[in-house]
Amino acid sequence: MPDGRFAPSPTGPLHLGNLRTALLAWLFARCDGSRFLLRIEDLDAAGSRSEHEAGAVADLATLGLEHDGPLVRQSERRDAHEAALARLVAEGRTYPCYCTRREILAEVEAAVAAPHGPLPAGAYPGTCRDLDRRRRAEREAAGRRPSLRLRAEGEVLSFRDRVAGEVTGAVDDFVIRRSDGTPAYNLVVVVDDHDQGIGEVVRGDDLLDSTPRQLLVARLLGIDPPGHAHVPLVLGPDGERLAKRHGSVTLADQLAAGRTAPHVLALFGASLGLCPPDEPVTPTDLLACFDPDRVVREPWTLPDDLVHPS
Ligand code: GLU
Repeated sequence: MPDGRFAPSPTGPLHLGNLRTALLAWLFARCDGSRFLLRIEDLDAAGSRSEHEAGAVADLATLGLEHDGPLVRQSERRDAHEAALARLVAEGRTYPCYCTRREILAEVEAAVAAPHGPLPAGAYPGTCRDLDRRRRAEREAAGRRPSLRLRAEGEVLSFRDRVAGEVTGAVDDFVIRRSDGTPAYNLVVVVDDHDQGIGEVVRGDDLLDSTPRQLLVARLLGIDPPGHAHVPLVLGPDGERLAKRHGSVTLADQLAAGRTAPHVLALFGASLGLCPPDEPVTPTDLLACFDPDRVVREPWTLPDDLVHPS
């Protein structure tokens, strides 16, 4: 049975939105009789902290979302990531890109009025795609360190998402190795999900747009892609994406305000139409009434009194 997973980035404490996504990933896996794996996405060495990894593991345990098998850290899988990169390079599917973020933004803004075909807004405009040897050498000589981009060749990919439905997206030439040498998320997530035997990726729908990129990587690496279920995000009372500034947004904050873990689970369950908001529940209680093909498609806006307890 292919497995499910939760893959937090240990760059800060998990907030209620991350934890609700974790609950959903657990429910999707368990209702299929699959294992629920945990992968720490600590690719960003500068931003990742071991205390946030420990905090994530502890939060999941407090909620009763126990994971199966050993915890996998992305930072310990560098060889597999490098092998995938080397294959794409050897197959001529990559090119070095010397653009800075600012240059790309300026070019994208200048092109706003011009038609940009099927590519999404903000897509890489292809500046370095056809640089000749001399222009590459000039940039190298100026001390610029290139990132590596994938030649996507304007591919348009479609997939069926278990929550969002039919999705079609054009793929731009995205970065697969950052200029600091680190393999990029859209590459490693494909390699890691494959090597961990993930059958269905359940994650926040802020990553829906990145999925066509990952499907292209999978195809180029000869990987059978997993299924996807992108679940709606949790918003702050102001309707903006949930963030620390919204108030009591972590599990620790909620426990400090006098709620128990089963109360927090009831709030999550109620937001998914699985239970009333005020009767404590366990993950197993929620599993009994969970239907993976009927997950709400609207974001959950947190009530003000939840993030500002008196
Ligand atoms: N590490 C990502 C995050 O914390 C999730 C990536 C994924 O699930 O593919 O938002």
